[in-house]
Amino acid sequence: AGAWEPLYRVVLLGDPGVGKTSLVNLFAGVQERDLLEQRGEDTYERTLSVDGEDTTLLVMDTWESEKRVCSESRLGSRCLQVGNAYVIVYSVTDRGSFESASELRIQLRRHRQAENIPIILVGNKTDLVRCREVSVEEGRACAVVFDCKFIETSAALQHNVAELFEGVVRQIRLRRPGG
Ligand code: GDP
Repeated sequence: AGAWEPLYRVVLLGDPGVGKTSLVNLFAGVQERDLLEQRGEDTYERTLSVDGEDTTLLVMDTWESEKRVCSESRLGSRCLQVGNAYVIVYSVTDRGSFESASELRIQLRRHRQAENIPIILVGNKTDLVRCREVSVEEGRACAVVFDCKFIETSAALQHNVAELFEGVVRQIRLRRPGG
């Protein structure tokens, strides 16, 4: 770690209410949350130690605020251009959000055609077992079709959230020049 340690921007995408803010708050760490919310921040920086190596992620939960602006200006969203990695979140209790996730994947491909950027598809809210509308098999199959990684999480139970961000780090490292 040092002044030249690279910083990677990770952008969260997904419909309102799927749990993006909850996931990013867990990433940021509960102690810091009150402070960050007071400052009205929606970008969080943290250094993760994964496989014995430190990597700093800047996680951006700016999709909804930007989308509002961008749909008015009819310009392409900045979010789709600045990310070094993308986390596309849907709720397993909301089929509409699952369909939106596919659309976001297509939009992303259009914006970043030539690049091999890591994308992780996330099915959140697995704790709401009785309300499930999207099966784990459907999620997995969608990830295969759209050529991205897949994980199911529960922000409420803090299940698989650390694994999600560790997976992001590993996917970024796989694409580093030289390995
Ligand atoms: P965002 O709009 O995508 O940022 O979603 P939020 O993080 O604001 O979450 C929307 C609502 O879903 C909130 O009431 C959260 O408490 C709730 N929520 C988020 N993640 C989970 C989860 O894994 N399980 C359950 N049961 N509720 C969740």
